[in-house]
Amino acid sequence: MTAEPAIDDTQFSGASGAVTPLQAIRQGFMGRCPHCGKGRMFRAFLKVADNCPACGEELHHHRADDFPAYVVIVIVGHILVPLVLGVETQFAPPYWVHMMLWPALVVVLSLALLQPVKGAIVGLQWAVGMHGFEQAKIDRAAR
Ligand SMILES: [Zn+2]
Repeated sequence: MTAEPAIDDTQFSGASGAVTPLQAIRQGFMGRCPHCGKGRMFRAFLKVADNCPACGEELHHHRADDFPAYVVIVIVGHILVPLVLGVETQFAPPYWVHMMLWPALVVVLSLALLQPVKGAIVGLQWAVGMHGFEQAKIDRAAR
């Protein structure tokens, strides 16, 4: 159904054509295709596009599942718990301030981090050839 686009890997990632796992994670975090860094990875907030619109790389193999949510929980918890404790010990604001501030920050930070973290995880899965990305990694290595 989808035509195989002609891809010149050297234009994407230097002379060797190899994308390091760190580059793939960074490009995924920015919401870009881990292969070319140009096409958008997401077709909706958390829906990964089946193929990269720029280079045609198959992205539907990812199995991020619940892992992005767990990572976001860990990150947001490590940001907010010290903040909550610091604000309480330094300023001791009334409880209504806590009730207004922290739940709102949890929601905002979680929504802000969810897509980038999912993109980074998909980039990592692509780079190391997990799940259905295995054949694409073998094909990249053969070039
Ligand atoms: Zn691409």
